[in-house]
Amino acid sequence: MTSTTGSSWTARELLAGLFSLPELRAWAVLLIGAAMLCLTGVVTAPSLPATLGLLGAGALLWTTLEYALHRWLLHMPVPRQPWLRRVHRRLHWQHHQDPSDLANLSVPLWGSLSLHLLALGAGFLLGGPQGVLPTFLGFSITFGLYEWMHLAAHVPYRPRTPWGRAMKRRHAWHHFKNEGYWFGVTHPVLDRLLMTSPRPSGVPRSPTARDLSRSTEEGA
Ligand SMILES: [Zn+2]
Ligand SMILES: [Zn+2]
Repeated sequence: MTSTTGSSWTARELLAGLFSLPELRAWAVLLIGAAMLCLTGVVTAPSLPATLGLLGAGALLWTTLEYALHRWLLHMPVPRQPWLRRVHRRLHWQHHQDPSDLANLSVPLWGSLSLHLLALGAGFLLGGPQGVLPTFLGFSITFGLYEWMHLAAHVPYRPRTPWGRAMKRRHAWHHFKNEGYWFGVTHPVLDRLLMTSPRPSGVPRSPTARDLSRSTEEGA
C-alpha cells in the first residue's frame, strides 16, 4: 500500500494501514516489548503515582518534540550539503510533495529509534534505572498516537471525535494552505502558545507548501 484510495476508510482499515507501514511495525515491536517488561516487573517505578508521573513525562516529551521537530527541523532552511539535503528530502520534502503517498508518511526507522533512545535517556535522568521504562512507554504510546493521527489525516477517514476532525483539518491547512503554520498533529497547544495557529482566512496561500526545496530561495 503506497497511496490512498478514493473511498472512505473504516477504523479497521486505518489500523491495518498503520501496521502495513514497515517503520510502524518495528515501533509496535518496541512498544510491546517495553510494555511486557513493565508488566512483568523487571523494572518498575517505586509507586503508582511515580509511575504515572513518569508516563506523563514521556508523553509530554513526545508532544513537545512533535511540534519542535516539525517546526524547526523538518521546516529548517534548505541545507546546502548534498547529503543533508538527501536526508531532509526523505524526512519531509517528499511528504509535502505528495501528501497522499504513504511511503513517505511515517518517521523513518532510524529516526524513530533515535527518538526512543532519547526517551530512554530522559527516563534515566528523571527517575534513574526505575524511571526508564515508564517514561519510554509514555513517550512511545504518544509517538504511536502521532503516527496514527498523521495517517488518519492523509487517508479518506473521518475521525470519530471533534478533536480528531479539527486536527485533521489543521493538518490539511499546513499541507495545502501554508506550511509555516499548524505544526501540531495530535494537539494544537504549542501552535496556540507560539502563534502558529492563525485563522486560515487571514493566511496567504504559500507557493512553496508543495515544494519545500524552494522555501529558502523564496524567502518563506
Ligand atoms: Zn502530513
Ligand atoms: Zn510539514
